Amino acid sequence: MSLRLASLICKTIMEDTFKDRGARKRLIEELKTKGIVDERVLSAMLKIPRHYFIQPEFRTHAYQDKAFKIDAGQTISQPYTVAYQTQLLQIEKGDKVLEVGTGSAYQSIILLELGVELYTIERQSALFNKAHARIAKFGYKATCILGDGSKGYESAAPYDKIIVTAGAPVLPEALIKQLKIGGILIIPIGDNQTQKMHSIVKTSATTFEEITLENFRFVPLIGEQAW
Ligand code: SAH
Repeated sequence: MSLRLASLICKTIMEDTFKDRGARKRLIEELKTKGIVDERVLSAMLKIPRHYFIQPEFRTHAYQDKAFKIDAGQTISQPYTVAYQTQLLQIEKGDKVLEVGTGSAYQSIILLELGVELYTIERQSALFNKAHARIAKFGYKATCILGDGSKGYESAAPYDKIIVTAGAPVLPEALIKQLKIGGILIIPIGDNQTQKMHSIVKTSATTFEEITLENFRFVPLIGEQAW
């Protein structure tokens, strides 16, 4: 491919047109009808162009409420799922957040837009490399880690909030340990077909309260305290 053609394709992908913005606005309205009420989450999702995170051939579908294949056989989460998990996190500016499963970094950038201090961990190097560059391109700073997030990330613990964006078979003990008292952990737990979203609040050094919510379908969390 010639350099000129490559840069033309790149420019087209990175453009946020009137049509893209209109489609994004309609998606946000759809998320509201599905029960997303946190205005800060909705406005972050209205601002960030989701089509930058998916393969160019899916560009016209970027603002449908659907998950899409990204590299390494993984997926970018459905917008409703991103909004749902982010809303449950009850983010406050300056929260120290651990995200397990960076993937496309779309969820990471929504969190950064909400003003968090982000640590994000991904086990696939192809995705890790891209995500790292993508976060910088958006002008944000985050600590990107290549590794097994089922063990958390001890070096920066404890966290105010932890979000897991892959389906776990059980609750990884390390994640509870690395949460601050009063901190929130949002994690899908189930089999390899469906998982239920769990919202966990750490109530003391040794206790936590857990609420089981809606069904979702995530790619598996693969690691030591996972599949
Ligand atoms: N939030 C991401 C979701 C990506 S899918 C997005 O919207 O793009 C889940 C991601 O979790 C995949 O990229 C997968 O490689 C990663 N993953 C699975 N198990 C993991 C583990 N133990 N540690 C870190 N990442 C993991």
